[in-house]
Amino acid sequence: MIISIDYDDTYTRDPLLWNQFARDAIKRGHEVWCVSARLQTHMDEAKDTIGKVIGANKCVGTNGVAKRDFLFKEHGVYADVWIDDMPDTVMTGYDGGDEWVTQYDGS
Ligand SMILES: [Mg+2]
Repeated sequence: MIISIDYDDTYTRDPLLWNQFARDAIKRGHEVWCVSARLQTHMDEAKDTIGKVIGANKCVGTNGVAKRDFLFKEHGVYADVWIDDMPDTVMTGYDGGDEWVTQYDGS
C-alpha cells in the first residue's frame, strides 16, 4: 500500500503520532510519502521532520497542483490512501498557487 500524509495541519498536528505511524507502516512493507501543496522549495521543514522517517526524497511539494495528479505525473506514484486535513487538495489544484501555499505555509 502506498500512503500519502499531508504536512501542514495533518503531520504538524501530532508529529510523534505520524512518525510512529510511518515507522510501523514501513516496517509492515508499506510505502509512505509526504505530499504537500507547498512549493517544493518550502519542503525543508518536512524533510527535516517526517523526511527523517520516510526519506527526504519522499517529501513532495506540488506548488498548489492537485496532489494525486502531481504525484503520479512527477513521480510515477499512485497513492492508495490519502491522509489529509483538506482532502479536496488531493483532486483539485489552485490557480495562483503561491498565494494559497503562503496562506497555509506552516500555519
Ligand atoms: Mg494540510
